Amino acid sequence: MINKAKQLQLSAAALVGGAVDVLSGRGWRYCACCRRRVLAFLPWRGGSAAAPPLMQALDMIGSDLDHFACPLCGSTDRERHLRLYLEETGMAATFAGKRVLHFAPERRLTPWIASLLPSEHLLADLYPEDVAVRRLDLEQMPFPDGYFDVVIANHVLEHVAHLDLAVMQIARVLKVDGWAILQVPWARTLATTIEDPSVTSSAARRELYGQEDHVRLFGADVFERIGRFGLSAEPVSHSEALASISPVSAGVNVQEPFMRFRRRQQS
Ligand SMILES: [Zn+2]
Repeated sequence: MINKAKQLQLSAAALVGGAVDVLSGRGWRYCACCRRRVLAFLPWRGGSAAAPPLMQALDMIGSDLDHFACPLCGSTDRERHLRLYLEETGMAATFAGKRVLHFAPERRLTPWIASLLPSEHLLADLYPEDVAVRRLDLEQMPFPDGYFDVVIANHVLEHVAHLDLAVMQIARVLKVDGWAILQVPWARTLATTIEDPSVTSSAARRELYGQEDHVRLFGADVFERIGRFGLSAEPVSHSEALASISPVSAGVNVQEPFMRFRRRQQS
């Protein structure tokens, strides 16, 4: 006799094509954000097969479109990946007592970062949709030099109008030896970042940059482009930082490096 809970599990397993062996538990995924097992992570907009042809041809590295959202908490793959990175490397443990600027704060990461007890956790966005989030333009920030210990802007710099201004400001508001996590989608097959302000239509931006509201696609020069004004790139690969974490089980993109930048000493 199969009880009701087991029946539900079996039905759900059937929905994902038998990818999960319910009786043994093999094949379960684990969400780093809600700390629960899930049968599968859900695709975004039809998955990688539906990505614009140019993005496929360039082998663009960004979100894991096939294993994107947690069906239980809604976390995205990049939220899960960043949390795993900060936890597993011990960086999260250093947040206590620090000033953290969190730009475009993700719903699943925000309460967790607050729980790490930073002395200040400033949530900011150019277009805030929540009263707890301050309206802030990355290109002209009203903070003193060297104010923050940490800046997090996870998939933001592909949206800003003037990249140089934004990274100059991030470098300025960071303390020397402070660090920023500045994840962006990029294509290592592209030598040079492409951006053209004359491309303004949503359709063209989607084809050229991969998404309607992106204004550039970073190439292999991404670390030089972001690290031009006082930030030193310290990229770390998934396998370097998270050797013991299965990207399939965690629903994260193993191709995505962690784009960490450290504020250089002023010369
Ligand atoms: Zn979850």
